[in-house]
Amino acid sequence: MRYGVISDIHANLEALEAVFDELQKAKVDEIICLGDIVGYGPDPEKCVELVRKHCKFSLAGNHDHALLGLIDTRFFNQYAKKSVEWTKVQLSKTSTEYLHSLPLIEKIENFTIVHASPARPETWNYILSIDDAADNFTYIQGVCCFVGHSHVPIILERNNDNKVVIKRENNLELDQDKQYIINIGSVGQPRDLDPRAAYAIFNSEVYRFDLQRVRYDMSKTQKKIIERGLPAYLAERLSSGQ
Ligand code: ZN
Repeated sequence: MRYGVISDIHANLEALEAVFDELQKAKVDEIICLGDIVGYGPDPEKCVELVRKHCKFSLAGNHDHALLGLIDTRFFNQYAKKSVEWTKVQLSKTSTEYLHSLPLIEKIENFTIVHASPARPETWNYILSIDDAADNFTYIQGVCCFVGHSHVPIILERNNDNKVVIKRENNLELDQDKQYIINIGSVGQPRDLDPRAAYAIFNSEVYRFDLQRVRYDMSKTQKKIIERGLPAYLAERLSSGQ
């Protein structure tokens, strides 16, 4: 099977549509979403509708849970908090129920998917380094775990001696004797200084991973952020990819 893998859409419709177009052209068999469909961006309802329609598997992220009142937003930054409040009144009952129905972690074929970390999905820990990754590998079923949450793509590989290394490649043939935690970056709010939407394609038969980027009509998204009264910073950060 060839899977399209997406994460952290953050209500950015233009980025999501551009990614779905690319995945359609690439003729993937199924699309998987790792969560944070909403929050920050101006089109939460349309993005939830599209994910429902196109994604065979979908997970909940911390922003989805914040919106549902399932987590405390005390530690959210001011922009995230404001967008959670704004998003709450934008979503239809159907979309809210859909977000409620999403699991935190899932095993598919020979890999695992989770929004934040496989060890403790509900604590929303970030995996940004070799140290962060270390105790997470034991919780992975299969050869790899796809994660989102940090909006920064990274591949962490654990070899047979339990040593974890960072791989810089965007394209990788996974070694079935090793294990991987792979952050696929963000569709709607990349933070690795590359403002293009990020997504991945994984071929589960030959263990081939490809990270992809695509440009989208960012100025349209930015205009909507301002028009809808969301913080201007949320529009600005899209340009710099951080
Ligand atoms: Zn996110």
